[in-house]
Amino acid sequence: MFKVLLASIIITSTAITDNVLAQSSDPLAIGGKDTAWFMSRVGRSDLDSEPQEPFKIAGNVYYVGSNNITSILVATPEGHVLLDTGTQKMGAVVFPNIVTLGFSPADIKVMLISHAHYDHMETMETMRRITGATVAALEAEIPSLLSGHDHGINETWGHEPIQVGRILQSGDNINIGGSTVKVIWTPGHTPGTATYFINTQEDGKTYQVVFGGPPSPVTNHPTYDTRPEDVLNAFAALREMDPDIRINGHPQNLFEGKLEALWANVRPSPLMLAPGEWLELLDNSETEYRRRLAEVTATAP
Ligand SMILES: [Zn+2]
Repeated sequence: MFKVLLASIIITSTAITDNVLAQSSDPLAIGGKDTAWFMSRVGRSDLDSEPQEPFKIAGNVYYVGSNNITSILVATPEGHVLLDTGTQKMGAVVFPNIVTLGFSPADIKVMLISHAHYDHMETMETMRRITGATVAALEAEIPSLLSGHDHGINETWGHEPIQVGRILQSGDNINIGGSTVKVIWTPGHTPGTATYFINTQEDGKTYQVVFGGPPSPVTNHPTYDTRPEDVLNAFAALREMDPDIRINGHPQNLFEGKLEALWANVRPSPLMLAPGEWLELLDNSETEYRRRLAEVTATAP
């Protein structure tokens, strides 16, 4: 019953969805479900949105997110790039963190999205309106951003539709104020999940910060299968990169025991990848994907 109703919600317009919400008196009806219900559906507690002091990741790249949802600022003299904005609750986290670092949210010129799940971009449209920034997103994620619900297997729902100002293709560079952010399409977790590579300089050295990682492709699902060609292209593109520091979307485990050092700007950063760690991550992930793919092929009718 839920699945059928959910499927119908996905293809209806916002106006019809609003109508369903207005008419629903049954608290168990899908139309009566609000963002909080969908939040619980993906199993992520809002304890992930607690305030946390910001810190410099490297060079002009800063962590401005909460205790367990990432938001990254790339600060340049010609304006800033903000990657992910987090949950509604993080509206009271991200901007104050940017101000704490000595920057102005009004100078945000470009906003980028890891993927269209509420916990990473619920406040994106609000922040776009406030700052006037351009939201740039991979083509495959545009339907989710415009509609307010995720077209991936999690089917999260309820974010404010986002006005996208620039459509990105895999491999595109976003250039601003001497900084470059490269986007690589890593589909699976959602249709248009993106991984970003930010080049920055510190003390005469160049560092590459990656936000994201290997694709999480869906296999053997009639609706959400990720095209193998797209996944293998993603792995190939990721192998061309050589990041020094990796940040994921929910970094609490990554930061555990390291926050004091991060706030104190200890170098080398405790977030530095070990030699070979990036390729090992890709190898393990691709091997696992190819194994799943072979299984599906073997059991196909
Ligand atoms: Zn997600």
